[in-house]
Amino acid sequence: MDRWLGKVAVVTGASAGIGAAVAEKLVESGLKVVGLARRKEKVDELAKKLIGKKGKLYAYQADVTKEEDILKAFKWTKDNLGPIHILINNAGTFRTTTLMEGNTRLWKEVLDTNLLGTCIATREAVKDMKTNNVAGHIIHMNSIAGHSVPNFPNLSIYIASKHALRALTETLRQELNSIGSKIKISSISPGYVQTEIVQASLKGSGPFAVPEIEEAFNRLPSLQAEDIADSVLYVLSTPPHVQVHELMIKPIGEP
Ligand code: NDP
Repeated sequence: MDRWLGKVAVVTGASAGIGAAVAEKLVESGLKVVGLARRKEKVDELAKKLIGKKGKLYAYQADVTKEEDILKAFKWTKDNLGPIHILINNAGTFRTTTLMEGNTRLWKEVLDTNLLGTCIATREAVKDMKTNNVAGHIIHMNSIAGHSVPNFPNLSIYIASKHALRALTETLRQELNSIGSKIKISSISPGYVQTEIVQASLKGSGPFAVPEIEEAFNRLPSLQAEDIADSVLYVLSTPPHVQVHELMIKPIGEP
């Protein structure tokens, strides 16, 4: 991680779970990290805890479903910290809903967060990296749900968002290759990770909430957010000529 020392990273969804663990490990590795989330106070708390580490965490309030929030966050980062070297597109929402009953609000929430927010942040990061001739690295937090279609109730739109994210990761890599760019794009796809995501889903999915998901998360083997943060450090640590396309990481025992 030495070549990233003092460089700037943006982590979306840094207030909890995987994003908070990634932000923490990047700060410990000596980076200047801007942590985006709606609950800025949670990122501020983490920033306080990390005072005295090699790097520093800066909290910025942003809702990734709002383009203007993302643009402001990137402008603040460039103006105050300098060129962006790393973007971790981690913010995600896990809402359960069905296609047959058509809850448009929940569909939009999932697609705007998991997909469009990622597209906008990626576009802004690539623009900045190209302007400053930075051979940066963009990591998309995907999921095993981006690779298969588990037969579980009401997951349709979440699965669709992660499958689309996988396609976008590949097409972005093709676009970058076509202009001879040295920017890397990687995807990490975790299996079950113990975070707030299930509780948030039960609360946010209204009548479409699936309580069995909580039971399944508690029963099945799972990973910790720190395991995924370690995999982010690994992906970032590869030498300049090596590009991890996809890293699928599951707990032992998960098929
Ligand atoms: P958590 O629910 O613990 O954390 C989600 C994070 O995303 C929070 O920081 C939240 O911040 C942020 N977020 C959600 N919506 C928005 C928004 N509109 N604007 C800004 N930030 C937002 O989830 P995880 O840590 O588990 O999930 C992180 C990523 O990992 C997601 O993309 C998820 O799909 C993926 N993943 C998770 C797995 C798991 O088993 N946990 C498995 C596979 C993939 P705030 O609410 O403060 O805005």
